[in-house]
Amino acid sequence: MIGTDCVQGGYTPKNGEPRQIPIIQSTTFKYDTSEHMGQLFDLEASGYFYSRLQNPTCDFVAAKIAKLEGGTAAMLTSSGQAANFFAVFNIATAGDHVVSSSTIYGGTYNLFAVTMKKMGVDFTFVSPDCSDEELNAAFRPNTKAVFGETIANPALTVLDIEKFARAAHSHGVPLIIDNTFATPVNCRPIEWGADIVTHSTTKYMDGHGVSVGGCIVDSGKFDWLKHADKFPGLTTPDESYHGITYAEKFGLEGAYITKATAQLMRDFGSTPSPQSAFYLNLGLESLHVRMARHCENGQRVAEFLSSHPKVGWVNYCGLPGDRYHALAEKYLPNGSCGVVSFGVKGGRAAAEAFMKNLRLAAIETHVADARTCCLHPASATHRQMNDEELIAAGVSPDLVRMSCGLEDAEDLISDIAQALEKI
Ligand SMILES: *Cc1c(COP(=O)(O)O)cnc(C)c1O
Repeated sequence: MIGTDCVQGGYTPKNGEPRQIPIIQSTTFKYDTSEHMGQLFDLEASGYFYSRLQNPTCDFVAAKIAKLEGGTAAMLTSSGQAANFFAVFNIATAGDHVVSSSTIYGGTYNLFAVTMKKMGVDFTFVSPDCSDEELNAAFRPNTKAVFGETIANPALTVLDIEKFARAAHSHGVPLIIDNTFATPVNCRPIEWGADIVTHSTTKYMDGHGVSVGGCIVDSGKFDWLKHADKFPGLTTPDESYHGITYAEKFGLEGAYITKATAQLMRDFGSTPSPQSAFYLNLGLESLHVRMARHCENGQRVAEFLSSHPKVGWVNYCGLPGDRYHALAEKYLPNGSCGVVSFGVKGGRAAAEAFMKNLRLAAIETHVADARTCCLHPASATHRQMNDEELIAAGVSPDLVRMSCGLEDAEDLISDIAQALEKI
């Protein structure tokens, strides 16, 4: 079960081996013959040769996350940004097109709408609440993937994963889901039809604000060869590996991650250090215990805010009146996350005053940490967006995002109460 996999998945020591995942702090690995090394370079044998591509510590942790998500293969990356970039760029390059939910993390929006656009990949953004017709109309002959977040940061929309999976599959492309906020403890998108799952492990998975990281998990379910014309990178020979065809040599379960490792990690090198992977694993060992507390605190804070006269609105899918409550009951039956967003009456200025008055909750761009923190996205993470883009991303100018940590709910509520009192 999920809790046991959080604690023990991915690494099973043999007789006399270290109980905890060993930190293999080595850039390189030694072999007896050049022939053996040659086979590794050609992907003809499996083994480690250089930590930019693969490292045993990182692989133990990736295997744990693959197990948690119900996938067949996974890779760690140095950040969530690198994970989402690799996840998309592994199958969509210059001249291609991707359909994405419009309510996504600001950094991902910028990656897609600005940086990847410069690289020749075009994106169409659709509301997560769009109709089937609107969603289907966003596809083009060169569409290669669909992207969305289970619970969007910071809009807190809940994605109808089955609806997006249906549309993706009817157009012969995979659905990529960023599952950072829900974590596999609260939602496993692969069970609802997602083909690839990404994470910023920097958030709940690490959970202590210790190390930046990301992960990509492949479900092993998407049949690249069935849509061979769309995905030549997986279904035709890779000349940089002596003509290997990933989908043929590594099968459904391994092709996507092997290609991402062999090509993207080789060329871009966004690899985490073994030490960072070790810290991530410490977080994963208590993920299931912590998520329950984050959700409990989120729920208590959301209920308090929604009954407060100085609060204009609250977004938290655990509230019965929330727009996404029904979707949350389906996809997140055990809870969503500890992040609550709300608007203080009086708009932007009142939001800034509220933030200044907080004592326990710290102002940070972070979320999903053991310590409660708070952010005004319009003046921080989303400041590159104009008001129209902010609204489309589900971030109104008065929005305050509060990430409830693991403290006592009573203390969080009295801090919020006194900060509201002073405005
Ligand atoms: C933070 C975040 C990212 C980016 O991750 P980094 O680890 O900061 O690079 C991507 N997606 C979501 C949903 C996030 O919250």
